Amino acid sequence: MLGAMNSLLVTGGRVIDPANQFDSIADVLIADGKISRVGQGLSAPEGAEILDAKGKVVCPGLIDLHVHLREPGQTAKENLATGTAAAARGGFTSVVCMPNTSPAIDNSGTVALIRERASREGVVNVFVTGAISKNIAGEELAPIGALKRAGVVAITDDGHCIQNNELMRRACEYAKMFDLPVMDHCQDYSLVTEGVMHEGYWSTVLGLRGWPAAGEEMIVARNVLLAELTGAKIHCQHLSTAGSVALLREAKKRGVPISGEACPHHFVLTDAAIAGSEKFWSGDGKALAESQMDELPSWPAYDTNFKMNPPLRPAGDRDAIIEGLADGTIDILCSDHAPHCDYEKEVEFDYAPFGITGLETELALTLMQLVHSRRLSLPDLIAKYTVAPARLLNLPKGALGPGADADVTIFDPVADWIFHATESASKSRNSPFNGWKLKGRAVATIVGGRKVWSEQNDLAAV
Ligand SMILES: [Zn+2]
Repeated sequence: MLGAMNSLLVTGGRVIDPANQFDSIADVLIADGKISRVGQGLSAPEGAEILDAKGKVVCPGLIDLHVHLREPGQTAKENLATGTAAAARGGFTSVVCMPNTSPAIDNSGTVALIRERASREGVVNVFVTGAISKNIAGEELAPIGALKRAGVVAITDDGHCIQNNELMRRACEYAKMFDLPVMDHCQDYSLVTEGVMHEGYWSTVLGLRGWPAAGEEMIVARNVLLAELTGAKIHCQHLSTAGSVALLREAKKRGVPISGEACPHHFVLTDAAIAGSEKFWSGDGKALAESQMDELPSWPAYDTNFKMNPPLRPAGDRDAIIEGLADGTIDILCSDHAPHCDYEKEVEFDYAPFGITGLETELALTLMQLVHSRRLSLPDLIAKYTVAPARLLNLPKGALGPGADADVTIFDPVADWIFHATESASKSRNSPFNGWKLKGRAVATIVGGRKVWSEQNDLAAV
């Protein structure tokens, strides 16, 4: 094969590769699906496609380690093709899918099915997680060794949480034996009961059942103790409270193998948003309102696109999550992309399913809240989407060194655009950010040397 036939030269961008501590204006040469060279003034091999990235950021392909692709069994909400198309549009070259499907991904056969389908229908790389417990019922361990052999990158009962601490301890011991991290959705059922939003001022005003912060923190504390006891790597998913950040900060100082992730909705929005847009923009959202146009995005009280699990919290928690991201306590950013059909969400707040879509808005929201607001540097933000998740899950991804897979994201950090949920590549529309003016957007997504999405030809390459 002629190498030149398959080469691509990305020129003149600001190349940021945190894994290699590289941050400079440079070119990136891709040949046969691999990174060939990164440097200045590279010449294009004959027949190479040239992509001008002047004024743009060029970085290792972004990884979202918390995504619900809804296969198998829930394809009315999303499928591998639409979910990965949304990922590509958002600038993500790899996603990690959660096992709370129907049936659950709790056996090697289902893992094989997803991997096979993803390789045929997926636009980006799909890594699979397996359940901790059979059918995610929290009663009996799933076959963790067989899941590992089938290729899972972690185990999690996401959407649910193992309440029995002894069972969780055994899961950690097996996971350690098989060198798999345990990812945990932290929710103490006895404290949370039927809670649908944060327990506090707004739940009282709105008359909705509360989901107290302690319901999350109880399990984060449990996980700190079990990580210490077993030596297993425990990763706390979608942290939402100040107390969780404090627990993690203290444990990491002592060298406990624990980590955490945060999702944009928890550090952009607050529980005031459930009282409607006016209450939000005039209160907790005041600073953000300046980034919007004169006519602010509006939504009614009890809008179910603001219902997720864990729930939106008060401003103090939102600020603590940002502080945790800024000081390195929280290592990883992700979306918890959780698509649901309109008819499922168009019911009373109490009855609507938890979750929102997020793949297409997360890069902009994190840039706005963390980088443009000067709380985090651009390289630190990129690290939380690349080298950090790759290290946690032992993925051969997240860096741009010669020989690495040519997964590359090119984005414009200051591009202004408006997100319209109806134009999303996802099958679902359940985003609270519909109509928001956002800053920062992917302009090209390259997976294994192939441009799978670009601003110019939206998905044309697929
Ligand atoms: Zn979850």
